[in-house]
Amino acid sequence: MTETAAAPDPSQGCAAIIVAAGRGTRVGGTLPKQWQDLHGKPVLAHTIDAFRTAGVSQIVLVLHPDDMPRAALLLADGVEAVTGGATRSASVRNALDALAGRGVARVLIHDGARPLASAALIARVAQALDHFEAAAPALPISDALWLGDGGRVQAAVPRAGLFRAQTPQGFHLDAILAAHRAAPPDAADDVEVALSAGLDVAILEGDEDNIKITWPGDLARVARIMGQAGMDIRTGTGFDVHRFCDGDAVVLCGVRVPFERGLDGHSDADVGMHALTDAIYGALAEGDIGRHFPPSDPQWKGADSRIFLRHAAARIAARGFRMTSADITLICERPKIGPHAAAMQDALAAVLEVEPSRVSVKATTSEQLGFTGRGEGIAALATVTLVSG
Ligand code: MG
Repeated sequence: MTETAAAPDPSQGCAAIIVAAGRGTRVGGTLPKQWQDLHGKPVLAHTIDAFRTAGVSQIVLVLHPDDMPRAALLLADGVEAVTGGATRSASVRNALDALAGRGVARVLIHDGARPLASAALIARVAQALDHFEAAAPALPISDALWLGDGGRVQAAVPRAGLFRAQTPQGFHLDAILAAHRAAPPDAADDVEVALSAGLDVAILEGDEDNIKITWPGDLARVARIMGQAGMDIRTGTGFDVHRFCDGDAVVLCGVRVPFERGLDGHSDADVGMHALTDAIYGALAEGDIGRHFPPSDPQWKGADSRIFLRHAAARIAARGFRMTSADITLICERPKIGPHAAAMQDALAAVLEVEPSRVSVKATTSEQLGFTGRGEGIAALATVTLVSG
């Protein structure tokens, strides 16, 4: 999906109608498809976001009366809802009536179950109305077409000149409202209504990703495309503490730092690497370091903490994510971290197999307050960001 085209100029009075009154459950599940979960929110919420991203700030949702309570969270910042009618055309007409008399010149009418309409596509339709009475995206057909019956091919159908229609379909408001008032009530889409009123409809280039969620598998396909677009972004945090004990060095973020004390722990007590490892498990919602490497298990006695971080890094890859940033803060009065920070950054990046520029290691004191201030131990904080795809 490209997002490069200019947004529609809001001063042109461009509004969107998103039709979402259907009860369609052919996609599977018990909820209508526009209310099913897609990356943590309803399909319809993504569809609304698509228009907001494209700069369309006035949006009318057409909803089934039963869905009005469900829609409460979506109604804000220029988004309103009207109740749908008995047919698609009747539903759209209710929304057009709601927009009439408000100074809206242009309207884009869109299926609620198409959450992947790109900003570029939306802008293309809106801008085409500078030159055309109506405009809609479509794609030419590449597969052969058959007429079938009873599981048998009855005839081949010539595909020349045929298109697959998409939405948003764009119109001048007055023209499409008049067309709807005069049209038969059972049109398949608004272009059919426009044609019945004699409007000239331009065909614009559609987008293969602008899928209408309809059949089982469509929702997963849309989720996959969204994932590839980097839309699943996760953050995790980690915190760890180890107390000082007798010794002559501490291991911090994979680097041995000579010091007059050591750090006490079941493994090598690398407090920075432990916080980072926990942050990764946190972003993936896969528990913490103790769940994967129980301290009660003697095999981790004195273990190199790289083993833990390497495991967490493998989980990132296995879950289809990549790490875009890690930020670790070590909290102690001594030893001084600054002279070792670059080596720590390199050591962590090597285990994670990422560029060192994606890993930050910094340090702070606690102004001699608390257990770190009294020199009883070292604490560490970590934050990571993971992106799918
Ligand atoms: Mg620890």
